[in-house]
Amino acid sequence: MARRPPRSSYRRGPAAPKPYEFVPFPDRVIRQEVPGHHILRPDLLTGILTFHLHTVTPLFVSSGQVALSEDLGLKPGGVVQAHYRIRGQLAIPASSLKGTVRSIAEAVSASCLGVTRASRRDLPDAFRRPCTRRAACPACTLFGMGGNEAYLGQVRFEDALLQEGGTMLYRLPSLYRPRPGAPVYRDRSRRYKGRKFYKHGRPRQADKGGESEVIRPDSLLLGRVVFTNLTAEQLGLLFYALGLEGRFLLKLGGGKPACLGSLLVEPVRLVLRNEQAAFLGDAHDAQAETIWEGDTLTAEVRRYITEARQNGYILSQQAEALERVLRFDPNDLEECPTGAY
Ligand SMILES: [Zn+2]
Repeated sequence: MARRPPRSSYRRGPAAPKPYEFVPFPDRVIRQEVPGHHILRPDLLTGILTFHLHTVTPLFVSSGQVALSEDLGLKPGGVVQAHYRIRGQLAIPASSLKGTVRSIAEAVSASCLGVTRASRRDLPDAFRRPCTRRAACPACTLFGMGGNEAYLGQVRFEDALLQEGGTMLYRLPSLYRPRPGAPVYRDRSRRYKGRKFYKHGRPRQADKGGESEVIRPDSLLLGRVVFTNLTAEQLGLLFYALGLEGRFLLKLGGGKPACLGSLLVEPVRLVLRNEQAAFLGDAHDAQAETIWEGDTLTAEVRRYITEARQNGYILSQQAEALERVLRFDPNDLEECPTGAY
């Protein structure tokens, strides 16, 4: 007699294709001493990038609170999970942006595993040793590290505030994996396969269940990242991980397996401090800063990314794998699962 599937999965029907892929680990981690941020070094790059985030699919960053839908200016009569706000304004918190950009920067550079629940024993040799201030990988240098070696990192994100668009109600599917605890992260020899990234796709609302307040597609948010004492290749890695080349979209917030949170990022303005000019003369002197906008900004951003690619700071094999997972082709999108996957 044919074995029947376990009752639970029988009832749930067949699993949908998995909505994620892995970016393989690099074979080594490079580490060097961090430059610090107390003294601005004239030989390194310090400045601010302003950028736009366009929502391509609904975006949901939970405030952790429920609200009455009419109090949010939405169709009355519902108790809903409210979207994150800062001082009353709809926003993406700096920590979410940093986490998303860091995970990409980690994956495409010779970096350690910053945030993981994986046991170090099962990781490739290069990843077992934690980073320190004296020996920090590219991601820990840029984004910081915790523990005894607490370090803020050379980049600081600000909350990104909504500029155009608004919110709507959305029923997030309550997704479940077919076999909880299955070793999907590991290969046959129980080694971890790489870093997991959710693919973009066509979101589909659940038929029933609670509603959430999400930022609707075609909305626009404005973000800023302040960076201190970066090399050109580190700035290139930061720009790459923000998705500024347009080769891939970011994926941020809740409902990632349900295809929420696809964000197109575009540079708006780059200000680089000229530390020597600022040191020698009036800090308000126009010579103390160089500003890029428009087409010259696009070219400048690409120049840094190209430099980081050409000298191997951005790893080509990992970058190609990441771009395959995170590419967004509106004509070739899979539907996201609403049940088991
Ligand atoms: Zn590290």
